[in-house]
Order: sequence, then C-alpha cells, then structure tokens
Amino acid sequence: MTIADRLGKDSAELLSELIRFNTTNPPGDELACARYLTDWLAERGLTTEVVEFAPNRASGMAYLAGDTDEKPLLVMGHLDVVPVGDLSKWTRDPFGGEIADGCVWGRGAIDCKGVLVAQAVALAEMARNGETTGRPVRLLATADEEVGGSLGIAWLLDNRPEWTDCWLCVTEGGGDIFSFGEQKFAGFMVGEKGQLQVSFTAKGKQGHASLPPKEIAAYTLGEVLRRLEQLPPRYRLMDSNRSLLDLLIPDLNIETAADWEGIFQMIEATLPGATIFVKALYTDTISPTMLQASSKINILPGEAKLTCDCRLLPGTEPGELLGVFKELVSDLPVEVLDEGSHPASLSTVDSPAVNTIRRLLEQWEPGTKLVPTLCQAATDSRQMRWAGYDSYGYVPFPASHDPLRTKQRVHGIDERIELDTLTAMTTRTLDYIRELRK
Ligand SMILES: [Zn+2]
Repeated sequence: MTIADRLGKDSAELLSELIRFNTTNPPGDELACARYLTDWLAERGLTTEVVEFAPNRASGMAYLAGDTDEKPLLVMGHLDVVPVGDLSKWTRDPFGGEIADGCVWGRGAIDCKGVLVAQAVALAEMARNGETTGRPVRLLATADEEVGGSLGIAWLLDNRPEWTDCWLCVTEGGGDIFSFGEQKFAGFMVGEKGQLQVSFTAKGKQGHASLPPKEIAAYTLGEVLRRLEQLPPRYRLMDSNRSLLDLLIPDLNIETAADWEGIFQMIEATLPGATIFVKALYTDTISPTMLQASSKINILPGEAKLTCDCRLLPGTEPGELLGVFKELVSDLPVEVLDEGSHPASLSTVDSPAVNTIRRLLEQWEPGTKLVPTLCQAATDSRQMRWAGYDSYGYVPFPASHDPLRTKQRVHGIDERIELDTLTAMTTRTLDYIRELRK
C-alpha cells in the first residue's frame, strides 16, 4: 500500500465516523464529534483539548509541537453542518457516513468535515513520522460556523486566545479548479465581503382604501425601488480581486462602466452563467428582498417598508453606503435605517502563503494558476481577520473534482465526496502544511 493509499483509507474511515455525528446547527451538538476527533488525534500522538462552552456544544483543538518559538500555523475547519433539507430526496442516509460507489456520503462530507479530516490525517501523519522541525501546527475544529460563529471562532478568540494566536490560518473556501478557455485556475480566498442590511420606510396616510389620499406609502416606496434599480454599479478593481481579471483578460484596461460591461459580456460568452458570480467580486451588491405594507386589503398603511441585503467590497464601509442611500431619497418622506451590518474582511494579499501554495499547485496541477480573490459568502476567516490575523480560504482540490458539482452538493441534497478527491485533499494538505512550517 502506498502512503497516499494509506492516507486515503484513513481519511475515508475518519470522515465516515465524523459524518455519523449529527451536528446539524441549530442546535449544533458538536461535543461528541469534537471528542471523537480529538481522541483520534490524541491516540496518534497529538496534544488535544476540547472546550465545552455550552451543554453539548464544543470546539476542539490539536497541537503538533515544532522546534522554533515562532507562532503556529493554524489549520481550521468546522464541526457543525447545515440541515439536510428534504430528507425524502436523499439517496442515502445523510448521517450514515456510507462508503459506496467511490464516495463517502453524508451531510458535511465536503463542508466541512472533509476539510477537517484532510487536516487531521495530515497532522497524524506528521506526528507518526516524528516531524517536529519548523513551526508548531495547530488544528481547530470549531463549532457554530454555519450560523455565524459567535459561539465558535468568535468565542474562542475571546476565551481561548492561546488557541487562536497564530502566524496565519488556512481554512475552507477556495481551491476549486475552474477552466476558462485554455486557462485553468484556482481561487485563494484572501477576503470576504461585508454586509449592510438596510431598511427604507416610506410614510403615508393611513386610512380606508375607499378614500385614497395623495400620500400613499406604497407609491413612495415604488419610487425608492426605481431609484435603487437605476443606481450605477459601484465597480472597483483592487489588489484582492484584480488577479482573476488579469488572468482572464489579456491587457486588462478598465476606465469606464462600458469597459466593465464589455468584460462581463466576454466572460459570459466563454463561460455561460459565470458572470453573476464574477460580477459580485467587483462591486457592492444591492438586493431588495423584503417588502411589507398593509396586512389587510381595505386598509391603506401608514408605512411601507423595504429591506435590502447589500454585500460590500473591502473598502466600502457600511456607513458610507448608508449615506449614499440617505442622499438618494432625501427629497422623499422615507426613513433609512441600518438594520445590521459588518465590514468586509481582508488578509495580506501578497503573503508568503500565497507564493508557497502557488508553487505547490504548479507541482500538483501543472499549468494551473493560483489567483488571490474574494469570497461572496462568509466563513470563520472573517472573525480571524477582524482580530488581526491573516486567514486564507484554500482547499487543495484536484482538477478531477468538478467545482459546479460541489456547488450543488454543499448545503444541497446527497452531499458526498469522491474517495480520490479526499485522498488528494489529504496528501496535498500534508504537502502545504510541511511547506508552510518551514
Ligand atoms: Zn463551511
């Protein structure tokens, strides 16, 4: 049996075991899963600890000593999973952890127990070989990521700062290999967009619908919607998002909004359906999602309310966009309120980690380029970045692993991971941990 075969077999078995713990969040119930994983690592020579922060809820830690006093490399994944959705649509038990048809099946197989297993098996291999040269390495198995991480990574940053203190962190997000014409590339997530939840409340005159007055709140809200739709897109090119366009478009030169539209048309022509994803990396987005007015057909409401979910690029402060909205409707009887917001998060783009992984990717998948980029969604990385650490989203998927298939399976029906993908993730995680420790 080759080393890769052995690591692949260990990964599949450990992943199958972890999937059997139902860590659907809410409520999470990560304790038993955290204990199983840390016991598994302790048996293989790592120092481990579990912290139960609430009944039946826990995060876990494993530590591999190094021989320098430099800060540890942190690798991180989460224990909790999202609900299974419509159970009747699943081909196999989402918490069965079955190994069948060349896959490990179940909720969390990719997001994020598969990622955690690749990290854990890599660390166990290093402990087995007595690899103590270089930085220490710490693994965090966090609770609560799927509902925002306030009891998981954020709790650890406050209550176990010795667990989170690190040189840099590598966790989920990124790493899928995409093809674009002749180009092949993988994203290295250096930042995540922020969010502004904003409400617009239009004032009108409440009354009987049979006697409509001049001041009708819904018409005013309609005007707000029309103005929002016509706001020009806030495109922006930065260090954290320009590598992808540099790769896709030779002689990139953007000066006007029309240049941006030309670029997106070109991308859509080569990769139909890709523009919606790509566009979101270059602009703040504004999505009107909730409308509320009267609850009865014959009552004209005194107020009509619109709520928008806006996602912000690094550099856009929530308060700045709020100011744009207030200005936009300043002549209307409309109140604009921040209903919840946080800024984007960003790590050092030009990091030694990027260069190390770029070099490794060239060995693993010759010709595939690594592009630092942003993530539209949120992971535990953002809390690490807000606390001042560099945190990166990268999972070393092989080229054989279809990224669009992953998109359907993660948080979807029949989540599963191919055994050869899992083996490659583990051996490549071992490679990058070894290199980043140096
Ligand atoms: Zn995840």
